[in-house]
Amino acid sequence: MTILKDSYGRAIRDLRVSVTDRCNFRCFYCLPHGEPPAAPKEMMLSYEEIEYASEIFVALGIEKIRLTGGEPLLRRDIETLVRKVAALPGLHDLALTTNGFTLAERARGLKDAGLNRVTISIDSLKPEVFKKMTGVDVLDRVLEGVRAAQRVGLTPVKVNAVVVRGHNEDEVADMAAFAREHDVLMRFIEFMPLDSGHEWSRADVVSGREIRATINERFPLVPVHTERGAETASRYRFADGAPGEIGIIAPVTEPFCGACSRIRLTADGQIRTCLFSKTEHSLRDRIRSNASRAEIVEYIESVVMKKEPRHYINDAAFEQPARTMSLIGG
Ligand code: SAM
Ligand code: SF4
Ligand code: SF4
Repeated sequence: MTILKDSYGRAIRDLRVSVTDRCNFRCFYCLPHGEPPAAPKEMMLSYEEIEYASEIFVALGIEKIRLTGGEPLLRRDIETLVRKVAALPGLHDLALTTNGFTLAERARGLKDAGLNRVTISIDSLKPEVFKKMTGVDVLDRVLEGVRAAQRVGLTPVKVNAVVVRGHNEDEVADMAAFAREHDVLMRFIEFMPLDSGHEWSRADVVSGREIRATINERFPLVPVHTERGAETASRYRFADGAPGEIGIIAPVTEPFCGACSRIRLTADGQIRTCLFSKTEHSLRDRIRSNASRAEIVEYIESVVMKKEPRHYINDAAFEQPARTMSLIGG
């Protein structure tokens, strides 16, 4: 079987597909000043085009696809796309990352369409802090989404929290308690320079080490050893055997680029070989130019060979990419 490999020998197994660049939240670390003008609709990949691209990627060894955005549940009838992608032979895992706004109503339909699991973003368990961080006062609704996802079996449910100094670092242990109580995998993510305001500052980053230490004080942790090296999160279970799990994703202070297995496809059909790529590669143009399947395969293989060795956040000359997380597909 073919396996996509980059020029550093890393096997590419995970594809993140952004299905829309629109979002109904205004998280200050992502879209603080609102959305850029919408790209013309015809620039966006259709479901048929996403299905075709996904089928080729899976034939090239992609095992895991994550649908993301923007807010993926804003794309009309996303269940139709889920159904198409879930049916691809050879795909092991289909996940979706959402802000959870409409998840309570959509969870059942997504599960029935073939989605395996969801990741839900919740930065705070205090309604006022949640509102301050996301721009919307809807914590209860999102928590209802977590319950619905668990009820219908979109599990294991992961919950993402971006930890930012002065906003929610005092809630880290409480969120660990939430993981125990609700049996979720709670993932704490370091703030990365991918905000549209370009206001990221190193001083705002709460390090993975600090997060780990804070949780350990209240709930001693034991590392979970996973089989594959490409996992972004360091994972921990609770030493007392309580349910739930902790994941710490520390791309700034503990980069894991050497084991990166990811590639991204934006809503407008551009392949990004790294979150921090400065160049993009138009798969959309290839698909629409009626290139043969063999030509598209060759193109993808050549693009993957250009994958960056690592990010340069910690280098003096680092420059933030022009696109924000909401446009890249986090
Ligand atoms: N809208 C969906 C959501 O928020 O879950 C999916 C897209 S969002 C871009 C995917 C993930 O990226 C979210 O969990 C979000 O918290 C994270 N994210 C966005 N901007 C970030 C930043 N500057 N640093 C770290 N993580 C970020
Ligand atoms: Fe929207 Fe997700 Fe970005 Fe928040 S993190 S603004 S929910 S795309
Ligand atoms: Fe992979 Fe780029 Fe993220 Fe590093 S920064 S883990 S190379 S996507």
